Amino acid sequence: MHRDVEKVLFTEEQIVRGVERIAARITEDFRGEELVAVAILKGSCIFVSDLIRRLPLPMGLAFVYAQSYRDATTPGDLEVHLMPFDEEIQGRSVLLIDDILDSGRTMSAIRGEMLKRGARKVRTCVFLDKPSRRAVELDADYSCFEVDDLFVVGYGLDYAGRYRNLPYVAELKRSVLPAALAADGEQAG
Ligand code: 5GP
Ligand code: MG
Repeated sequence: MHRDVEKVLFTEEQIVRGVERIAARITEDFRGEELVAVAILKGSCIFVSDLIRRLPLPMGLAFVYAQSYRDATTPGDLEVHLMPFDEEIQGRSVLLIDDILDSGRTMSAIRGEMLKRGARKVRTCVFLDKPSRRAVELDADYSCFEVDDLFVVGYGLDYAGRYRNLPYVAELKRSVLPAALAADGEQAG
């Protein structure tokens, strides 16, 4: 696994500091609110478990499962499964959490759905932000780090289902990635 890595972009120590930084801001911003963290599976699983343990607030935890399918020519189709029960989000302040904000389509669609189902407000929180790739108008309210237009893995982010368990964020060797993916990120979960 480690030998497929070209370059480490964020070490475990840097990640801890990045998570602590936004946890402090979130704690201040949500104090006194009915908070529920909604994590977008699968990519956010490691990030959300590190983040919520640094939020000393009363809060709920719910999950959504989103998958996008895209190829070089069509924009991605997004499938959202396993939404939280309405009563988990109604009247609550939702902190919507994903691993990475790329085109923004996933976050934007799920954010709209949360509001439609009665969330009082929705704030977006991502581990990584790729602002250069945005296709819809959406900013992350909280992000640990910005990255260039690269395909990254680790700390929950996968390539073809693998590498989520790398404890750091890395770029893979080009020999591991097919050419199409190296040019345009195909993404599931
Ligand atoms: P968006 O809807 O913002 O285009 O896509 C967000 C999803 O695409 C993320 O949740 C993630 O699953 C996937 N994604 C985007 N960029 C990357 C990347 O660099 N690496 C990996 N592994 N997944 C990515
Ligand atoms: Mg994802």
